[in-house]
Amino acid sequence: MDKKLKNFIFVLNCGSSSIKFAILNPDSKKTYLSGLVEYLFLPDTCITWKYLDKKYKQIIGSNINHKFALDFIIEKILLKQKDILKNIVGIGHRVVHGGIKIKKSVLIDENVLTHIQDAALFAPLHNPANLIGIKIVMEKYPILSKKNVAVFDTSFYKDMPETSFLYAIPYNFYEKYRIRRYGAHGISHNYVAREACTVLNKKFHSLNIITCHLGNGSSISGICNGVCVDTSMGFTPLEGLVMGTRSGDIDPSIIFFMHKQLNMSINEIEEVLTKKSGLLGLSGVSNDFRYFEKNYHLKKEAKRSVDIFCHRLAKYIAAYTSLMENRLDAVVFTGGIGENVPLVRKLTFSKLLLLGFKINSELNLSMIGGKSGLITEVYSRPVFVISTNEELLIAQETLNIIKT
Ligand code: AMP
Repeated sequence: MDKKLKNFIFVLNCGSSSIKFAILNPDSKKTYLSGLVEYLFLPDTCITWKYLDKKYKQIIGSNINHKFALDFIIEKILLKQKDILKNIVGIGHRVVHGGIKIKKSVLIDENVLTHIQDAALFAPLHNPANLIGIKIVMEKYPILSKKNVAVFDTSFYKDMPETSFLYAIPYNFYEKYRIRRYGAHGISHNYVAREACTVLNKKFHSLNIITCHLGNGSSISGICNGVCVDTSMGFTPLEGLVMGTRSGDIDPSIIFFMHKQLNMSINEIEEVLTKKSGLLGLSGVSNDFRYFEKNYHLKKEAKRSVDIFCHRLAKYIAAYTSLMENRLDAVVFTGGIGENVPLVRKLTFSKLLLLGFKINSELNLSMIGGKSGLITEVYSRPVFVISTNEELLIAQETLNIIKT
């Protein structure tokens, strides 16, 4: 390790069923330690981590909760790296929803904790998990009592115009209950948009791009003159593209039909639309894109699911070109699917030839496994694959806040 490097940031991304963590240096962009706890509340909760290029994996128990997993991360991994520990200057927490009050990254105090708690109304799966991480770090580990910063996914959408964020329902639902589009995945869209500036040699404020974060959750954002002007996730992360287990857009009347004609309770409908729909629902087999890639030409349910996924995505990309004020600099693909599945990129852009997109097959096939680069012909509008790094953006934001 470079002993001269200081200003390490510990990043904690406490999700509903997983925890990501990292220690990195925002200035050098180097990650020293990174890890992931998966399968919380399930048999065989598993932790994998990488420290200075060495990889480790361990089952930490069964039905493990956030608190137990965080104790493991901090006591068994973090506190043992004394060299790094003494250089940590701040802790950056990913928080999905900033609610209506918090619009940018902030130093965490009692007031901020209350706002995050209140915003759980809009992100009931995510904000409570984010809060557990913050509270454990701040209250239980005074040794880590550095400055704690919350970095919000919703911040990226703070300047979205009301033409994008309002739903066409009676206006008082917005005024009284704040029902509107909030968006999600903002940290990832923001990160890849900033990376796109570097490859396109443009300043952020003059950037016109469409970013597609395609993973287990998927969303698309339109950025015009450096401002996010629309995004596909809405009041909650259920709206928009086809996802792993979420339906994305549907006619709301389907919900009335399920309730009135099929006698399903609201909880049952919510379960279907959030956990049993999307690629899993369409295929009846899986939500893992590796299955779809392998079986696209072999199984009709795999082909059907991927075709619907790409059809919806192409429709959104085409629609978002209307937000670009006469110039589209590039489209960016990121996320587990965006970064690893050439088939999705090929099928999606084959529907967008009219808009001047032409994928280069060789480049497309080569851009997998975390590689970033251009995948279109020279005469095409550019499409880039850019590997996302939410932890780095959280670390950069955290360092900025604690320096001010
Ligand atoms: P994320 O939510 O960004 O972690 O992405 C998860 C999705 O990406 C899942 O559907 C995975 O199956 C898919 N994915 C990740 N790596 C690959 C890969 N090498 N090939 C195909 N799909 C992948």
